[in-house]
Amino acid sequence: MLGNQKGFIIDLDGTLYRGGVRLPYAIEFVQAVRDRGFPLLFMTNNSTRRPEEVSHHLQELGIQAYPHEVFTTSQATVRYLDEQQRGNRVFCLGESGLTDELIDAGYILCEEDADYVVQGLDREFTYAKLLTAVTLIRAGAQSILTNPDVRLPSDTAFLPGAGSIAAAIRTAADQEAIIIGKPSVIMMNYALERMQLTASEVWMVGDNVRTDIAAGAAAGCPTALLLTGVSSVNEYVLHQQELCIEADYIFPTLQEFVFHLGFNASI
Ligand SMILES: [Mg+2]
Repeated sequence: MLGNQKGFIIDLDGTLYRGGVRLPYAIEFVQAVRDRGFPLLFMTNNSTRRPEEVSHHLQELGIQAYPHEVFTTSQATVRYLDEQQRGNRVFCLGESGLTDELIDAGYILCEEDADYVVQGLDREFTYAKLLTAVTLIRAGAQSILTNPDVRLPSDTAFLPGAGSIAAAIRTAADQEAIIIGKPSVIMMNYALERMQLTASEVWMVGDNVRTDIAAGAAAGCPTALLLTGVSSVNEYVLHQQELCIEADYIFPTLQEFVFHLGFNASI
């Protein structure tokens, strides 16, 4: 059943695809949203890819997507820095999805006198980078974390995520970073602003209780948890009890969500 909802914020990995494999009903779900003229935003905590790469990956999987419909934590991070107006010098631990966004927005990447230490997933993380980050934070640079995901799903095993690197920086610098991506409401509020809709008008759809559902709930969006990715029913119950995170709806797959919305008539 569709209430007063007019928009959809949709997570990617574990929701529309898993690694290189498209999940059932991903094409139909996205198409049904488009057919009704509802705005959608593909929102990802992955800071390593640019919006064009994200939409290209979706297109390759047969899911219709455009760069302007993608919102990455790197974009949200730049938006946050723009609001702070502390300066434009950034020590960045991250990959091209993050460094390109920063450079394009006019930030200077440096290793000295930084206003910010911005950290995302950096698969070339070293002790030397850790040392530089910690030294700069202790000297007054603001510590910013694109996303707190500790582990990432992959085809073979769980990979350490940006949150694992952040734990090393936080421990050594003895300072908490400002978190931009899900479950932070910072990125959610930017997303809602971009869609020009209020929280209650937008479904937050994702596979991760800790990030997608927590972010949606914190922002005030109705939430739909899909059990096609990282969160199992057991994990959900655990989070519900320990962290008081509650999804409004839980669906085994996108198909049940499509039926719940009443979108199945046109599929
Ligand atoms: Mg996901």
